[in-house]
Amino acid sequence: MEELTHYINGARVAGASGRFADVFNPATGEVQARVPLASKDELDAAVAKAAAAQPAWAATNPQRRARVLMEFVRLLNRDMDKLAEALSREHGKTLPDAAGDVQRGLEVVEFCIGAPHLLKGEYTDSAGPGIDMYSMRQALGVVAGITPFNFPAMIPMWKFAPAIACGNAFILKPSERDPSVPIMLAELMTEAGLPEGILQVVNGDKDAVDAILDNETIQAIGFVGSTPIAQYIYSRGCANGKRVQCFGGAKNHMIIMPDADMDQAADALVGAGYGAAGERCMAISVAVPVGDDTADRLIEKLVPRIEALKVGPYTAGKDVDYGPLVTGAAKERVLGLVESGIEQGAELVVDGRDFRLQGYEDGFFVGPHLFDRVTRDMDIYKQEIFGPVLSTVRAKSYEDALAHAMDHEYGNGTAIFTRDGDAARDFANRINIGMVGVNVPIPVPLAYHTFGGWKKSGFGDLNQHGPDAFRFYTRTKTVTARWPSGIKEGGEFSIPVME
Ligand code: NAD
Repeated sequence: MEELTHYINGARVAGASGRFADVFNPATGEVQARVPLASKDELDAAVAKAAAAQPAWAATNPQRRARVLMEFVRLLNRDMDKLAEALSREHGKTLPDAAGDVQRGLEVVEFCIGAPHLLKGEYTDSAGPGIDMYSMRQALGVVAGITPFNFPAMIPMWKFAPAIACGNAFILKPSERDPSVPIMLAELMTEAGLPEGILQVVNGDKDAVDAILDNETIQAIGFVGSTPIAQYIYSRGCANGKRVQCFGGAKNHMIIMPDADMDQAADALVGAGYGAAGERCMAISVAVPVGDDTADRLIEKLVPRIEALKVGPYTAGKDVDYGPLVTGAAKERVLGLVESGIEQGAELVVDGRDFRLQGYEDGFFVGPHLFDRVTRDMDIYKQEIFGPVLSTVRAKSYEDALAHAMDHEYGNGTAIFTRDGDAARDFANRINIGMVGVNVPIPVPLAYHTFGGWKKSGFGDLNQHGPDAFRFYTRTKTVTARWPSGIKEGGEFSIPVME
C-alpha cells in the first residue's frame, strides 16, 4: 500500500511519529494509502526550517515572488488532468468537478500575481514641515493554514498563494482524508522556483493542529472546516496571541418566489443541492418556496430531475453527476439524518436509501433524497447534512422565507429566485448572510472579490482571497520621517496636532 509523506524543505519526507491514517478510495471503499500523522516535534521542526528561510523570501523583490506564482499557474495548467485524477481518486468527486476545484484555486493564484501592486502601501508627502509619512505592508513571518477535505486543491491555494505572495512562509496542514493533491501542489511550487522551506506541508490530525496553535513562531492561522473545530481553533489561536480567521459550516437557503421561472429554479436546485454529493459549503441544502402553490409546482419540477441523476465513480468520466461521499462514516451520518427526518415527520418525496451500484457495493455512495414539509425543529433543518439531501421548507410569505434564512445559525451563502427586482433588492440588503445569489444558486465570489460567511459560518474580521487576503497576511507599519533642513529649537513636550 502507498505510504504518503510530508513535504519539507522542497522534498517528500517520511513521517516519523509512527502514527498513520487510512486514505480511502471512496468509490470502492478500499484503503488505497496511508498518510503519516505528524507529532508536535515534527511540526515544530518544519516551522523552524520555515522561519530560517522566510526573511530572505520577504526581502525578495515582490515581482520576483509573483513570477514564481506565474510559473506555478503554467504548471497547474500543464498538470490539470493529473491533479484532477488524483483529487477524484481520494475525494470521490467527478473529474470535471475536480478540475473545477483546481481551477478555482488557480484563479486566486492569478489574482496574487498582482501582489506588487497590492503591497505598495501609502505615502503622505509633507505631513508636516519637512515630515513625510508612509505605511508599508510587511509579511507576518511564518503563518499556517488548516484545510478541509472537500476542496483539497482550491482551499490550500486560497491560503498559501496570498500568504507566500506577501513574503510569508507557509505551513499547510491539509485534510488527512485526501492529502495527495496538497503534496503535488507543493512540488509544483518548488518546480516553479519557490525556495526551500517557504511552503511546508505537514500532514496530521488534532495533534498537528494543536502543535500549530501552540507554536510561538506561527503568527497567523487560516482555517476552513466544520464550525465546532473553527470555534476551537479561533478561541485557542486568539488566546495564544495569533491572528486567526476561521470559516465554518453552512446551511444555505434558496428562496423561490411565486414569480420565479420554475424550470430555471429546479435546474439550479438540482445542481446546487446534489453537485459534489452535497459536500460543498456553498451547496443549497434548503429550498424555501413561498406559498403552497409555488411549493407544489417546484416539487413537480424537481422530482423527475432528481430521479434522473446519475450517481457513479469518477472513472465513468462526464457521464456521472455526482460521486460517493468521502468516507463510510460520512455515509452513515447522512443516512442517520435521513432516518431522523422521517421520524420527526418530514415527507420523503425522493428516497435514495436503497441506492446500490453494481460492482461498487462497498463504495460510499448515497442516492439522492428530497424532503418536503421540513420544519425548523427537525434535525435535518438545524444541522449541516453535507450529503445529497435537499430539504423543502414551505414558507407562508416572503417575510416568513426571509426569517428562516435570517434565524438560522449559519450564514455562509443564500439565493433568491424571482423576476421581481424589488424583492431581490430587499433580500440582498436585509439578509444577514455573507454571500448572496440573485437567480444564481451558488454565489461563490471570483478571486478578486472576497469569500466569507457570517454568523457561525465565519470567525474573524477578514474574508478569504481578494484584497482581504493581503490585509490578513501582512501587518502595517507606519513611518513618520523628518529630515531637518536647519538648526531646530528644543524638544516638544505636548502631542503634535494639526494647526
Ligand atoms: P473538519 O472540521 O472535520 O476538518 C477540517 C480540518 O480540521 C482538517 O484539516 C482536520 O484535520 C482538522 N480537524 C478535524 N478535527 C479536529 C480536531 N478535533 N481538532 C483539531 N483539528 C481538527 O471539516 P471537514 O469535514 O474536513 O470539512 C467539511 C466542513 O468544512 C463542512 O462543515 C463545510 O461546510 C466546511 N467548509 C466550509 C467552507 C467555508 O468557506 N465556510 C469551505 C469548505 C468547507
